[in-house]
Amino acid sequence: MNRVGTGWDIHALVEGRPLVLGGVNVDSPKGCLGHSDGDALIHAVIDSVLGACAMDDIGTLFPDSDAQYKGISSKILLTKVMDLVRAKGYRIVNVDTTVILQSPKLGPYKEEIRRTMSDLLGVEQSAFSVKAKTAEPMLGELGRGDAVVCQSVCLVSDCQ
Ligand code: MG
Repeated sequence: MNRVGTGWDIHALVEGRPLVLGGVNVDSPKGCLGHSDGDALIHAVIDSVLGACAMDDIGTLFPDSDAQYKGISSKILLTKVMDLVRAKGYRIVNVDTTVILQSPKLGPYKEEIRRTMSDLLGVEQSAFSVKAKTAEPMLGELGRGDAVVCQSVCLVSDCQ
């Protein structure tokens, strides 16, 4: 049986923080504010995977009140989630994502993001998609380049 899940995340962008999206360091003067490394793309993907398996959400599994997750790479969080998902007998079929970010352009980073994310998810690179969009300049924090939004849809299959 196939099951679908969605995920969404938003992080503020501030100077002096690294910008990490999909496990890849993106060259930018601003990065994501967050308790972990602030990787909004991995966070959205995690919630879509968990949602497809009806296994709660990222904030419940990794509470930001817990000091052990301070500054942690979100790649480690996704690896933990994949261990839980596999233990329940699910595998990822494909994941489709959208990143809404004013700058920098993500084009030069897309292949590395797809390679990194497909490795973490245990799928072929063709099963992970990342699309990049910008927002209209008048649209609040997104338009000013003070935030990044990531969306994810995930299809999983049970292995029986
Ligand atoms: Mg987040």
